[in-house]
Amino acid sequence: MSGWTIGTALKEGKRKLREAYDEVSFDAQILLATVLGVDRAHIIAHPEKPISDEQVVAYANLIQRRVNGEPYAYLVGHREFYGRDFIVTPDVLVPRPETEHLVEHAIMMVEGFYKDPAEVRAVDVGTGSGIIAISFALRFPTATVYATDISPEALAVAKCNAELHGVKNIQFLEGHLLEPLYENNIKVDLILCNPPYLPSDLVPQLPFSRFEPEIALDGGTDGLLYYHLLFKQVHLVGVPPIRMFLEIGSTQSQAVLRIAHQHLSIMLQEVIRDYAGHDRVVRLSAK
Ligand code: GLN
Repeated sequence: MSGWTIGTALKEGKRKLREAYDEVSFDAQILLATVLGVDRAHIIAHPEKPISDEQVVAYANLIQRRVNGEPYAYLVGHREFYGRDFIVTPDVLVPRPETEHLVEHAIMMVEGFYKDPAEVRAVDVGTGSGIIAISFALRFPTATVYATDISPEALAVAKCNAELHGVKNIQFLEGHLLEPLYENNIKVDLILCNPPYLPSDLVPQLPFSRFEPEIALDGGTDGLLYYHLLFKQVHLVGVPPIRMFLEIGSTQSQAVLRIAHQHLSIMLQEVIRDYAGHDRVVRLSAK
């Protein structure tokens, strides 16, 4: 035994975290709970319990990674999204609460426009951890759902998440954007996508970019590269009316709409804001 208890570990963890953060109690508790495989309440209730050498080492390691600024989700290995817990590794983008707007509005659209959700053929492009495809597929278990990603590592995480949540109606396909669909002659009528949309030169300036995959963040010089590429591919897979819900950066709505009109015959367009009042999702219908 290390001679340490839960109480000593918490005290030491908080002391170290204070090098980087003001609010340290919660982090110290959660990271210790992760190492011990217990919940936070147990940590708070049992400061006297001894912990082993290995646990002290593992805890010190997590505390140091946190001090270095690593996102919390990577340290604990999961993140909540749309009311469910998802496995998260450094191979995937950490799920953002803003992305829940995309899921929410896509679900509302299906509820309003389809007589039977079994008719829906949807794709989540660049699925990452799988949060969009899985949240959607769980709401409509009879729909046909595809999820693509160019990263096999990301797809492996998404598949684990699908299994974790018992999802049966998603097919995972490796490839760039819609390519695996049109190569296999698969047609869809609903496209969901949270593409990388940060301008390249901004990426290195952001604190999380040291840890999250660059391919999940970098949207090319102006951040709009993937909207161009995606809209170009839509007619190869889309059965009209093709409905799309795309996440965007808060300043990109007009540019994304302009690009959409360059490539597609748009029948309906809407910009949806997030809770902070920022433009966050572009909704489109195209012929
Ligand atoms: N679809 C995933 C998400 O919304 C990954 C997106 C990405 O990697 N850009 O979190």
